[in-house]
Amino acid sequence: MTTVEFRHGPVWVIAEQIEGRVRAVSFQLIGHARKLADELGAPVEVILLGESLDEPAQQLIAAGADTVYLGDDPDLAFYHPEIYTEMIVRLAQERQPEIMLIGSTPMGRELPALVAARLRTGLTAHCIDLVLNENMILEQKVPGYGGLISIICPERRPQMATAARGVFPSPELDTSRPGRVAPLVVPKEIPHRIETLEIVREEPEGVPLESAAVVVAGGAGAGDPGGWREIQGLARVLNAALGSTRPAVDEGWTELETMIGQSGKVVSPELYLGVGLSGELQHMVGIVGAKVMVAVNNDAKSPVFEQVDYGIVDDCREFVPVLIEKIREYQTK
Ligand SMILES: Cc1cc2nc3c(=O)[nH]c(=O)nc-3n(C[C@H](O)[C@H](O)[C@H](O)COP(=O)(O)OP(=O)(O)OC[C@H]3O[C@@H](n4cnc5c(N)ncnc54)[C@H](O)[C@@H]3O)c2cc1C
Repeated sequence: MTTVEFRHGPVWVIAEQIEGRVRAVSFQLIGHARKLADELGAPVEVILLGESLDEPAQQLIAAGADTVYLGDDPDLAFYHPEIYTEMIVRLAQERQPEIMLIGSTPMGRELPALVAARLRTGLTAHCIDLVLNENMILEQKVPGYGGLISIICPERRPQMATAARGVFPSPELDTSRPGRVAPLVVPKEIPHRIETLEIVREEPEGVPLESAAVVVAGGAGAGDPGGWREIQGLARVLNAALGSTRPAVDEGWTELETMIGQSGKVVSPELYLGVGLSGELQHMVGIVGAKVMVAVNNDAKSPVFEQVDYGIVDDCREFVPVLIEKIREYQTK
């Protein structure tokens, strides 16, 4: 048997599963981790915690993992911050990863912060690109100061970052790839201060954002709940998914799940219609994959018009109800 010496510690991905299905973002991060690891001359190691995951573990190898550390135990079936953190921290102290990547999901908003604090390292959330510079340091790119800024963690390890689904492409699965699954044991002495009593699933209303062919996104220009209801109505008549900017969420007009952008979801519809929003980079990075983009804004000088294919200068409070009426007329013809 030949032993391969690696110059750098492994590139890690913390995979996430829900009811035994690994989330798409975990596959996408493994695909990107593979590229980074090949540049570094390092292996890709994936941590997968849950229950009954033999088959998903093989899929992660097919996606690019060299080793999958698999914690398979009923105690791990649902995300548990204390147990997950402890297991990841202990293994990281042993394996000394160079890089650790996690999806920007609800779990990915909490778990990496807990792990980073325990490992006394840095963490960059909601990255929209991750590249190695000439010194083989990970440049963690996020929108800022009207452009993209690179955040680095030059001294501490691992270099930790989160990225949303859709930021990196899904890798082709190659079931002939070699790789190994290493079992992880759940330490039973960890305090269980948190207990999952019940899982309540809310069925999302309307069309899911990530897979929608048409997205109607509303912004602060909606003005009030009445204006927002018009934008919701427009999404309904177009059979579109409803998206939003941060101010619409902050105003309480819509849920956080609808927010598109750096801290929200990444969408790639055939048609994106942005209503009453200014085209700030933190929102626009979430729609880079859209094919045709249209904006409605009452300010002809709004920066959003420089970024879309078609612009409509009008008050959305007046324009949207008329547009809904015209679409209905067209649909009943
Ligand atoms: C770290 C960080 C992360 C962030 N992440 C996100 C993110 O993921 N997603 C996100 O969306 N934002 C995010 N933001 C916030 C972002 O920077 C912007 O503040 C936000 O996108 C602006 O939303 P908006 O376009 O709706 O509001 P505004 O910038 O206030 O624009 C409102 C627009 O509506 C127009 N308008 C007003 N009235 C009317 C009318 N009657 N008819 C038509 N048009 C009208 C105005 O001309 C204006 O252009 C983030 C910010 C930070 C600092």
